[in-house]
Amino acid sequence: MPTCIGFNCRKPTNTVLYLRGDGKWLADTMTRFEVPPDYAKFMIGKLIGCEPSEVSSHTKTEDLPLSCCGECARKAGFPPPVHPGAPGPIIQGSSSSRF
Ligand SMILES: [Zn+2]
Repeated sequence: MPTCIGFNCRKPTNTVLYLRGDGKWLADTMTRFEVPPDYAKFMIGKLIGCEPSEVSSHTKTEDLPLSCCGECARKAGFPPPVHPGAPGPIIQGSSSSRF
């Protein structure tokens, strides 16, 4: 089972949050789960297929289901995560406009 993205949580979780945004926004959003910025860039780079150094200049919008438990989603101020494939809220933004 995938583990929660919450950096201090990492519990096995079978729910996801749907994120949609550019590289920098996705990395910034990960820091809301207590993920250190460098590690956030590393992870996002891996998920969207670019180098960590390229994440901030990755302007293409990517859809990213992020494994997250309900508690971490709540702590970060996001709606409750859903089972992968189930309809759920899409959390989107871009680095040029905060949501
Ligand atoms: Zn969690």
